[in-house]
Amino acid sequence: MHISELDVTNLERGRKGSRWLGIAPRVEGGMWRLPLLTVTGRESGPTLVVVAGVHGDEYEGIEAIPRIADQVRPQQLRGTLLMVPVCNVAAYATASRNSPVDGLNLARVFPGAESGSLTQRIAYWLTEKLIKAADFFIDLHSAGIVGDIPTLAGYVHSDDEVGRRSLAAARAFGAPTLWGHPPPVPPGRSLSAALELGVPCLYTEAPGAGRARAEDVTCFLRGALNVMHHLGMLSGAPAATPPPLHLLGDGNMDEVMSAPLDGYFRPHVDLLQEVQCGQLLGTIHDPLGQILAELRAENAGIVIMRRGMHRVNSGDGLFHLTGRAAA
Ligand SMILES: [Zn+2]
Repeated sequence: MHISELDVTNLERGRKGSRWLGIAPRVEGGMWRLPLLTVTGRESGPTLVVVAGVHGDEYEGIEAIPRIADQVRPQQLRGTLLMVPVCNVAAYATASRNSPVDGLNLARVFPGAESGSLTQRIAYWLTEKLIKAADFFIDLHSAGIVGDIPTLAGYVHSDDEVGRRSLAAARAFGAPTLWGHPPPVPPGRSLSAALELGVPCLYTEAPGAGRARAEDVTCFLRGALNVMHHLGMLSGAPAATPPPLHLLGDGNMDEVMSAPLDGYFRPHVDLLQEVQCGQLLGTIHDPLGQILAELRAENAGIVIMRRGMHRVNSGDGLFHLTGRAAA
């Protein structure tokens, strides 16, 4: 089936389903296809959309989504669960962040273009067919192969109805860290498309490094189930979780402290460590051990991202600091 023929408002109730949806022709023949898992409750109710693999080297969500589908029974569900375990199918095929077909970052091209390149078409159809139908939207990311980020639920921190609903669901998700971003939302993200449509939403991060740690997969699995309890799609309250570390700050990872030159990167601080202005965060070395550059904090803050892979090239992102939310 081509995704243009998909009508998520007309799925048979009380069923679990899985299918592949055609997106765009491949030059060597056949189609690029998106995997879709659906669970429809006997009773109608809210629609939750959960996606993963927007970046092709982030595996925690890809691992969690089939488990979420396993756990949710149609007879216990009120509403509709729609999940795409791998969105950037071409980047997934090459274990890379961006698409090898058109070089694009799927998380920078939303809401996409119907007749655009492969990545733009994926963004377009995800927006048109899934995000538009959603009462809540979850995008499962992690730090990927080169990054390192603590396990967290992120949301746009705005004092309006959509902002309040996003924060409430992000709290219910139950990740150990909660990270809010004051608007404006940078363009091109799946969350920018959702918010543009008035759909409350959250995203996740986790350490990544090309693995899917069991504790992160469990966090994402429980988090999605918690949000379904929170939305009234499953009966009962979300599981009680310890109060999260609540952080607030710019989440734009395109504008972070970056490497001034090529070399071997050695971090000197841990994730979630509180650092002072001027504190040494990391160094870049040559193969003989000579220090070529020192990276110092430009302001006080909490380490929310550090590069995981040691080898760096000039311009690669190394650190990002954020602040604590007011109690
Ligand atoms: Zn990502």
